[in-house]
Amino acid sequence: MPPLSSSLLFENTFQRIRADVNQFKSEGRGVYVTSSFQSQSVPLLHMVSQLASDAVTVVLIDTGFLFPETYLFAHSIIERLGIQMLKVRSERTFAEQMTQRGNFLFASDIDACCHLNKVEPMRALLRPGDVWTSGIRADQSKVRSQKARLEMDATGVLRYHPLLEWTAKDIYRYIQVHDLPRHPLENDGYKSIGCVPCTRKWNALDFEERGGRWEGSSKTECGLHTD
Ligand code: SF4
Repeated sequence: MPPLSSSLLFENTFQRIRADVNQFKSEGRGVYVTSSFQSQSVPLLHMVSQLASDAVTVVLIDTGFLFPETYLFAHSIIERLGIQMLKVRSERTFAEQMTQRGNFLFASDIDACCHLNKVEPMRALLRPGDVWTSGIRADQSKVRSQKARLEMDATGVLRYHPLLEWTAKDIYRYIQVHDLPRHPLENDGYKSIGCVPCTRKWNALDFEERGGRWEGSSKTECGLHTD
């Protein structure tokens, strides 16, 4: 059994998500949950799988550059939890994204690549008034520690962060308590797992959990969680 405080945290979080989603639905809002399908995504997916099947839409933003292990993990977890997954991706093919010199965009302009492959497909899905749920946590980075549980963004979409106060420890305790799987690349030393070209293994010099992303650049966010 987990410590009482963990049990309470897990139960309170689930009850709050259920109440919030019911409230959003009663207001006629579409409710979406984007997931990067890492270990840190698993508790939120597990909780929404216990809501009514049409309560939320789980979304994978498929850049086409994700690790094969992530695609496999995503499919195995949705099957295990019995949830549907909607994939969204850029309308532009890889060939259309190449620079004039024949390079992938991620090799020359990571901000443009993230915008095209992550932000635009998600923005195309959402309407003002919709709720965009994600499992970001304040302890992941300085940028994320500035977030609020519920925020309205510049496009009129409600940003909902129900796990904001959770810690990495809470995530792994929840996974352990519920006997849920972890992303297989964690065993190889990865901590924050995004697209293959922009993810390296975590090392002791990384100050933040997301230190292995966009090496050699000051970029720490793909743009999904920053206006
Ligand atoms: S993380 Fe890298 S490959 Fe993925 S969308 Fe952003 S720049 Fe492109």
